[in-house]
Amino acid sequence: AAKAEGRNRFSYFTQSMQQEAKEKLALTNDLRQALARNELHVYYQPILELQSGQVTKAEALLRWKHPVRGMVSPATFIPLAEEAGLIHDIGDWVFQEAVARVADWQQRFGRLIQVSVNKSPIQFEQPEKYIWQEQMKKLGVPGNGITVEITEGLLLKESSKAKERLLEFRNSGIEVSIDDFGTGFSSLSYLKQFDIDYLKIDRSFVKDLEKNEDDKALTEAIIVMAHKLGIRTIAEGVETEQQRDLLKSFGCDYVQGFLYSPAVPAAEFEKMVARRTIG
Ligand code: C2E
Ligand code: MG
Ligand code: MG
Ligand code: MG
Repeated sequence: AAKAEGRNRFSYFTQSMQQEAKEKLALTNDLRQALARNELHVYYQPILELQSGQVTKAEALLRWKHPVRGMVSPATFIPLAEEAGLIHDIGDWVFQEAVARVADWQQRFGRLIQVSVNKSPIQFEQPEKYIWQEQMKKLGVPGNGITVEITEGLLLKESSKAKERLLEFRNSGIEVSIDDFGTGFSSLSYLKQFDIDYLKIDRSFVKDLEKNEDDKALTEAIIVMAHKLGIRTIAEGVETEQQRDLLKSFGCDYVQGFLYSPAVPAAEFEKMVARRTIG
């Protein structure tokens, strides 16, 4: 009986695994069409300079409006895009969109709003197909109009290809941000080897900042360390005024989070810039 039960459980298990694999395949196939069908959109989340309260930057975040499933989270579809090799074309498109926005905003607001673009380690495995240097030059976007967000893992890899590609960005004046800082396999030695512009303090440190003394200590220490190395800090996932006040007292440079705004379509983002200060 135990054997039969085991077998049934096994077959139930494989069935649900098969179901999951089918789902994944279906979603991946839809994703193949998503760009051509205009289902992908770049949203912008404002990043504020903490001292002035001004929106000076934005993070470009992908959104997928699936015709049947509705909004699919990037946490779900980015890994699929990576596995299926679609991330290269999608990533190129996001970058292009971001550059075009920076150019447009430069015209309209008369100042540079720096847009950061996320890049997963997979995207560093092959070069962009389109020539971003040319696009930026053509549209008059300076190098520091774009920031590339990478995770710590990329810098720990031995792959010199990735480091070369990163250097290409740097040589064009593009700034580099370490995303989700403090959550990866941190080895602080890479901060010495690479010219990093920003550390983004992960939301997991910010979330309980008001109550958790350890998080307070770690967050303040990260900010002090970064500044001593000439690196600026951006706190992610700021949701309350208390969190903002603590971050301000620690000398954090920039904040980003639902306290101010989630990622929104470009037109909505522009209204916030026009208002000059939010939050
Ligand atoms: P990330 O780069 O760390 O982006 C920050 C995430 O935190 C975003 O989730 C953002 O909407 C969310 N967030 C911002 N403020 C708050 C807050 O106050 N509270 C909470 N709870 N969440 C907040 P999102 O947009 O779902 O993106 C998830 C991840 O997907 C991103 O994490 C990034 O790793 C990846 N991703 C998004 N767009 C792209 C892209 O164009 N290319 C690549 N390679 N990855 C992307
Ligand atoms: Mg990011
Ligand atoms: Mg992040
Ligand atoms: Mg994060």
